[in-house]
Amino acid sequence: MEKQYDVREQHTHTRAPYTYIQPMLCTGCGVCLEVCPFQAIRMEEGKAVIDKELCKNCKICVRVCPEGAIM
Ligand code: SF4
Ligand code: SF4
Repeated sequence: MEKQYDVREQHTHTRAPYTYIQPMLCTGCGVCLEVCPFQAIRMEEGKAVIDKELCKNCKICVRVCPEGAIM
């Protein structure tokens, strides 16, 4: 049987597609920092930033951001 498509695997090998925070939309509320299971998000000058080396592309942060700033 053919292997199922796994976005996490693709992320690990190609670094794309990756999760990205749009700084223009981020209000710095900090919700995404709290929910990331991999501590991949940090605050920089009041804006949330994702560390691509730590992010596993699970998209949990995308679902919780009240501003829709994470894509
Ligand atoms: S949840 Fe959204 S608005 Fe809040 S800090 Fe994270 S990216 Fe910014
Ligand atoms: S996609 Fe998952 S691992 Fe990456 S920053 Fe968001 S919650 Fe953290």
